[in-house]
Amino acid sequence: MEVDGSCHCGRITYRAVVDPAKASICHCTDCQTLSGSPYRSSVQAPAATFRLLTGQPKIYIKTAESGTKRAHGFCADCGAPVYATSVTEPQAYSLRIGALRQRAALAPRRQIWCRSALPWSASLASLPGVERQ
Ligand SMILES: [Zn+2]
Ligand SMILES: [Zn+2]
Repeated sequence: MEVDGSCHCGRITYRAVVDPAKASICHCTDCQTLSGSPYRSSVQAPAATFRLLTGQPKIYIKTAESGTKRAHGFCADCGAPVYATSVTEPQAYSLRIGALRQRAALAPRRQIWCRSALPWSASLASLPGVERQ
């Protein structure tokens, strides 16, 4: 499936081909902190399909508890997270679903790091809701 995305200010735009079956949610504490959200939703794109169209992401190298390093690309102007990939040889880009125009069609198929999932993050459907603020 072809997707295209943009950071919030629009400086960084990109295009890729993703497999919707690889859309997932990560509940790890790094994703919570880096996304500022209870969990992060991402979908994998093979590196060969990823094309940066405009802008240049700033890279933050994250070192996981395991020692694994990941390059996190984000917009230095608006702060929006764009992707994560390998530091040395990118084979795939983990695109942040919330920044993709096709996000409504990319429902997550699995969740990882459930052991650190916030206890309230799975029960949003029962909260009272309004269309706008
Ligand atoms: Zn931006
Ligand atoms: Zn994570």
